[in-house]
Amino acid sequence: AAKDAGRGVHRFYADAMHDQASERKAIEDALRDALANDELQLHYQPIVDVGSEHISGFEALIRWHRKSGEVVDPVKFIPIAEESNLIVPIGDWIIRTACASIARLGPGYRIAVNVSPRQFANEKLPSAIVSAVSAAGISPDQLELEITEGIFLDESPENLAMFQKLKRTGVRLALDDFGTGYSALGYLKKAPFDKIKIDQSFVLGAADPSSMNAAIISSIVGLARALGMETTAEGVETHDDLALIRGLGCSHVQGYIYGKPVSIEAALDMLRDNCGQIEARGFKSVRAP
Ligand code: C2E
Ligand code: MG
Ligand code: MG
Ligand code: MG
Repeated sequence: AAKDAGRGVHRFYADAMHDQASERKAIEDALRDALANDELQLHYQPIVDVGSEHISGFEALIRWHRKSGEVVDPVKFIPIAEESNLIVPIGDWIIRTACASIARLGPGYRIAVNVSPRQFANEKLPSAIVSAVSAAGISPDQLELEITEGIFLDESPENLAMFQKLKRTGVRLALDDFGTGYSALGYLKKAPFDKIKIDQSFVLGAADPSSMNAAIISSIVGLARALGMETTAEGVETHDDLALIRGLGCSHVQGYIYGKPVSIEAALDMLRDNCGQIEARGFKSVRAP
C-alpha cells in the first residue's frame, strides 16, 4: 500500500509539472501574437529628485492586456519571453516606445527601461538603441537602461564589452535591484554605471528601528557616492521610510508614496501639474505613533 501511495504522489508531481509546462507553452504562444495584436503597453512610474521633490523621470514597466481582459504581470511573462527569445523583438518595441514617450516628455526628463539578460547578450542591442534614439529625436542621455545583478553571474569579457558599447551610445546605465543578487562589487568599478537602484526589500520598513535596513541603505549610498553614482530607493510607500531615506542621502525615490505606474497621458499630466513638483501622498506611518 505504501508503494501505491508513493506512486500516487509521484504521479501528482508529474501531472503538476505537465500542467506547468503546458501553461508556459500557452503563454508563449499568446505572447508571440501580443505585439502584433497591440496587447502590450508601457506604464510609467515617477522617479522623484529627493532634494527638489520634482519628477526627474519615469521607469517604464510593461503590462500585457490579453484579449480575455486579463492583465498579466511582467514577473509571469518576462521569464517566458526570455527563454523563448521573444524578449528580443519585445525588447526592441519597449526601447522604441520608451524613446517616443521621452520625446513627448520633452528635454530634461528621462525614462528608464528594464533590460533582461538575453536582450543584453544580443549583439544588435547597441544599434537598436542608436536607431530608436535618433528616430525619436531625443538626446541619448534621456534614456536609461536598468540592468539587474543577475547579468553579473557571468563576468565574461563579452559582458564588459557590451557595457562599454552601450555606454558609448550615450545612454545612462543603472544597476537594478541592488543587493538581491551576488552583488559583484568588482563589477561596480568595471562597468560604467550612473546609478544604483536599491532594492525595495531593503526599503520597505527601513524606518523600523529593529531592522538593519537603514544601515544597509546607508552603506550603499556611501559606496555609490564614492564611485560618483546616483542612488534611487525603490518601493518607498510610507512617510516614515521617505524621511529616513532622505536623511540617508539617497538622490532619488520611487514608490507608491509618489505614484504607481500610469499611462503616458497620466504621466504627462503629472509633469504639467505644479511643473512636475509632486507631493508625497502615500500611506500613513505603519508604526505606532
Ligand atoms: P523592477 O524593475 O525592480 O520594477 C519595480 C517593480 O516594483 C514594479 O513592479 C513596480 O510596479 C513595483 N513597485 C514600485 N513601487 C512600489 C512600491 O512602493 N511598493 C511595491 N510593493 N511595489 C512597487 P512590476 O511593474 O510588476 O515589475 C516587476 C518586474 O518585472 C520589474 O522589477 C522588472 O524586473 C520586470 N519588468 C517590468 N517591466 C519590464 C520590461 O519592460 N522589460 C523587462 N525586461 N522587465 C520588466
Ligand atoms: Mg527596474
Ligand atoms: Mg528594481
Ligand atoms: Mg525589483
